[in-house]
Amino acid sequence: MYRLEHWIGGALVAPERGAYLDAVNPATGQVAGQVAAGDRADVDRAVAAAQAAAEGWRRYPAAERGRIMLAIAAALRANRDRLAALERADTGKPLPTALAEVEGSAAYFEFYGSLVYLPAGDVLDVAPDQHVFTRREPFGIVGVITPWNLPLNQAARAIAPALTAGNVVVAKPSEVTSQSTLALAELAAGAGLPAGVINVVLGTGPEAGEAIVRHPQVRKVAFTGSVGVGQAIGRIAADRIIPLTLELGGKSANIIFEDADLDLAARESVRGFTLNAGQVCSAGTRILVQRGVYDRFLDAARTAAEALIPGDTLGPIITEAQFRRVQGFFEVARQDGARLVTGGRVAEVAGHPQGHFIAPTLYADVSNDMRIARQEIFGPVGVVIPFDTEAEAVALANDSEYGLIGTLWTRDVSRALRVADRIEAGQIFVNVWNTMSVQTPFGGHKNSGYGREKGIEALHHYGHVKTVTLRV
Ligand code: NAD
Repeated sequence: MYRLEHWIGGALVAPERGAYLDAVNPATGQVAGQVAAGDRADVDRAVAAAQAAAEGWRRYPAAERGRIMLAIAAALRANRDRLAALERADTGKPLPTALAEVEGSAAYFEFYGSLVYLPAGDVLDVAPDQHVFTRREPFGIVGVITPWNLPLNQAARAIAPALTAGNVVVAKPSEVTSQSTLALAELAAGAGLPAGVINVVLGTGPEAGEAIVRHPQVRKVAFTGSVGVGQAIGRIAADRIIPLTLELGGKSANIIFEDADLDLAARESVRGFTLNAGQVCSAGTRILVQRGVYDRFLDAARTAAEALIPGDTLGPIITEAQFRRVQGFFEVARQDGARLVTGGRVAEVAGHPQGHFIAPTLYADVSNDMRIARQEIFGPVGVVIPFDTEAEAVALANDSEYGLIGTLWTRDVSRALRVADRIEAGQIFVNVWNTMSVQTPFGGHKNSGYGREKGIEALHHYGHVKTVTLRV
């Protein structure tokens, strides 16, 4: 049984009021440890530690900042087995998924560590008697609030560009997956990051999370999570006039045209709604299939889905509440008249009678107005919707409150470019699903959020531009 405390000012710190939450391992359903239940007093301490470190970190020579970031990447890689084990203990995900997450997290520090050498501004030719230049400045303290599905990765995705841009961070991981973010902060300290540059406050959203968003010295919040919480944070940020990055949910369209490599499309479409047990914001859960290959696609997808082994290649659903919520959609699908192709039930896993496992589930003959086509399920559930024409596919894809990604399967390059142009989503994949490269900007349209993480683009979301005009 472990007990986790906050990481503030380079040291583990007990919660001021002495309260802790139980942490449950979703594969066993058993309480595995306790997590500090942080509140405003703990956030105040974390912000004070961040404030004390802010000026020093901002003035660090870029090359040294870069060296520390690269050392953090190396430390993450050197501890990959331990980090993957922590992630698995909190989420129950399969080892290859956890290891890929650690590698992705190291890649963020490596990539942003190398970007410290980018020019920090421009010289503008405004007038002969004026010397005008711009420079990038950090916001100061950035709040990073993250969910439970890819905890280490999502923390690294926001923290690495924030640090490169010269900010200091107060992070709050999801209360059900605190271990890996805490380990990241400790490893970063071991890699030479000065105390107070990354602080981690543990606890629930309404207490610790909201206190971060409301704190007068927090100047930007990078939030990854649900639409409802994103809206709540947005209301507070509107009053405080601070910028946000909101990485929210998705119900992404995955479009299979008749000329696609059907076996590849079927295999990858199943991966697209079952990776991490479907608990991925960019899951391609709305599968639009052109009528001529509809039956063949369903056969191939069923075979691919049934080849997954719950408890081995398919992990559990994160919490009891979410486990019940996913099962609730089986009744909703029945009421709305969808045809069950496979799954639609809890999966029994030997040795884990209390585990939250769901069999890979595929529905066919779905119409886009059914609730299983409109709502983010966040479980291994895909819905298949037939279409006839390209225009119809585009209209269906865009008929959603979300706009995170779109995936196309076709051999026709002109069509791929045409459709990519028309889909309302932050990223489009053609003949491949979700490569997760650190270089590619990532973010949403519509209710999937705004701002961008990843790539050079993210750096523009972690600082101000100041213009200096000098008469010479
Ligand atoms: P969630 O919104 O419930 O929680 C996310 C984080 O916000 C947690 O740390 C939580 O403690 C905190 N929080 C909750 N209430 C808060 C409040 N009032 N103020 C401040 N913080 C608060 O989301 P979740 O259930 O942990 O994660 C699943 C959701 O995240 C899904 O909707 C999924 O699509 C989304 N998600 C989006 C991305 C992306 O990059 N776009 C990635 C992963 C997950």
